[in-house]
Amino acid sequence: MSRDPRFDVLFEPVRIGPVVAPNRFYQVPHCTGMGYRRPQSLAGLRGVKAEGGWGTVCTEYCSIHPSSDDEPYPSASLWDDGDVGALALTVDSIHEHGAIAGVELWHGGAASANHYSREAPLGPHSRPAGVRDPVQTRAMDKADIKELKRWHVEAARRAQRAGFDIVYVYAAHWYLLHQFLLPSNQRTDEYGGSLENRTRLLRELIEETKEAVGETCAVAVRFSASTGGDDANQITTEPRAMIEILADMPDLWDITVHDYSFEMGTSRFVPEAALESTMSWVKSVTGKPVVSVGRFTSSETMLRLVRQGVIDLIGAARPSIADPFLPLKISEGREDEIRECIGCNICYTGDQTGTPIRCTQNPTMGEEWRKGWHPERIPVRGSDSSILIVGGGPAGLEAAVALGKRGYDVTLTEARKELGGRVTRESRLAGLAEWARVRDYRLNQIGKLSNVEFFLDSRVDEAQILEFEADRVVLATGAKWRRDGMGRWHDEPIPGWESPTVITPDDIMGGMLPTGPVVVYDDDHYYMGGVLAETLRKTGLEVTLVTPANEVSTWTTHTEEQHRIQERLLSLGIGLVTGTSLAAVASDSVTLESIYTGNISDVAATNVVMVTSRAPVDDLYHALVGRAQIQRIGDCFAPGTIATSVYSGHRYARELDADPSQTVAFRRERPTFEAPSCC
Ligand code: ADP
Ligand code: SF4
Repeated sequence: MSRDPRFDVLFEPVRIGPVVAPNRFYQVPHCTGMGYRRPQSLAGLRGVKAEGGWGTVCTEYCSIHPSSDDEPYPSASLWDDGDVGALALTVDSIHEHGAIAGVELWHGGAASANHYSREAPLGPHSRPAGVRDPVQTRAMDKADIKELKRWHVEAARRAQRAGFDIVYVYAAHWYLLHQFLLPSNQRTDEYGGSLENRTRLLRELIEETKEAVGETCAVAVRFSASTGGDDANQITTEPRAMIEILADMPDLWDITVHDYSFEMGTSRFVPEAALESTMSWVKSVTGKPVVSVGRFTSSETMLRLVRQGVIDLIGAARPSIADPFLPLKISEGREDEIRECIGCNICYTGDQTGTPIRCTQNPTMGEEWRKGWHPERIPVRGSDSSILIVGGGPAGLEAAVALGKRGYDVTLTEARKELGGRVTRESRLAGLAEWARVRDYRLNQIGKLSNVEFFLDSRVDEAQILEFEADRVVLATGAKWRRDGMGRWHDEPIPGWESPTVITPDDIMGGMLPTGPVVVYDDDHYYMGGVLAETLRKTGLEVTLVTPANEVSTWTTHTEEQHRIQERLLSLGIGLVTGTSLAAVASDSVTLESIYTGNISDVAATNVVMVTSRAPVDDLYHALVGRAQIQRIGDCFAPGTIATSVYSGHRYARELDADPSQTVAFRRERPTFEAPSCC
């Protein structure tokens, strides 16, 4: 297919200072959980984005000095010349595909507790540092400010030597330069107090960075167009005045907003292109190109924003993670094949847990170097085996697509009348509609594969599986929520769990609705408890959410959602009882127990929803193991996230008939030492 000429404008080159971006697709800086620790993984990841058509590909935040150390979150670094070679790997892998490379120089200021370097954190004034760490910043004096500028310039020169085309001055996201910009900077010297004074350090850094590397490198500024407020009513007064002061000084404005949970909000809370109204004025106060983000996956939205002059470059982190080949697919008129981001923020949990990035939609993300996985290419089949997949949830669907692309003959059978398993059911809950994209992308792919067929409304049993005589059977039969309350807090069933008043998330997703005051007991701690409480409350029921944790949906701190979830549940009038376990269930009430004091209380409830843990649906496996070539994938193997199911299905397909020595481990980046000679 060829490209619709309407989209030609997206493929126009854009001049950015002394360099030219080959098109308007711009991968803004985003964390990967790799940083300086995993330079080869990083080079592999960024190179694939460039190959997929992103004309500009940037690094994650790149520390300029040990006083900006974010451990345990892995950042890149340019502390000394020893860092240059590692980043040059990334630059080379980007340049290899004709894209240009950007580096986001970064000083964290009060946001960095410096656990690794043990340097005292720095800031415009002394205040608590890190994430609730019991340390404070040291107020920077003039000599410190001079030093900071020297570090920045030296890091910029190293970046230039590594081959970067764009060097950032990073003045957003509560890091050091942003801390100087904020009204809380009430220093009494020329770097604090008035708006002009608070802007001074940024202005000087732009000037000095340009002077140092501006002949060959563009200098970009990442900046917040708002100081906060409601999503729909962001306050833009001060940022606007500051951009007016700096107007044409940088070569590029990379615009974001103050609230991170809005800028990279999950689809449960923030729609595509949500920042538009907040930053649509920026181009009227600068003549320089503007890039901004908005979880853009629709080529029509991209086109509209460029045509209307809102942005010059289509900024993307998550859409480029979910589909590194998004630009190429638009270029070739294959928009229907875009693996659209679902806005779940699983990608952010890598950095948050100090581990390499992963993605729900794209199982190859983060595996480019260490496993040699490519998002668009997969080795041809290693045998003529026919394969029967039982279950059409995310694991079964991903396995069917990947096996089909390898060339195997695949039959998928699904008990229900629709495909998608948990994503289809969960996408009907409050706020999760975009999750259905996990199913839709795979259904589209299956439609293009003549060697993959599927049957709906076809629950199979042991005898039918044997009768089918497939060479290999893959069980992707999922998991069911437990009714007995066993989970993290309870190792044994909760007394009274057999009561008919106890229901599970599967019951609710199957259409059962409680009648009276309902208690949602959440010992799972991810999204399900909070989503069900919200969904039930919206039907008019009185809802109380009880959890042994100290906050609701506590794991969602890693997806940047926890605050929004707690706020939403409270504003809906849902009762929140934290630090409390469910001790027993009676016919019209439940007994709760404080996990700290053991104090007992009774609460009226006509229904209890147990959101505690899941049991694999693996009876077919135990019946057939040893009698058929059978393997389990996804939740049937080990219940987890949608991302773990997709990954599991993909891994099965990649490893089928592969050399076993290639499939056990993955390449690691570690110092290696010669083994001592023995005896
Ligand atoms: P996963 O996340 O591992 O893909 P899901 O629970 O989303 O798991 O999907 C499992 C799918 O398997 C469901 O759609 C379910 O209807 C289907 N399934 C379970 N048992 C059978 C069976 N015996 N025959 C056919 N399909 C089945
Ligand atoms: Fe999008 Fe989720 Fe993938 Fe992140 S993990 S890129 S939010 S689909």
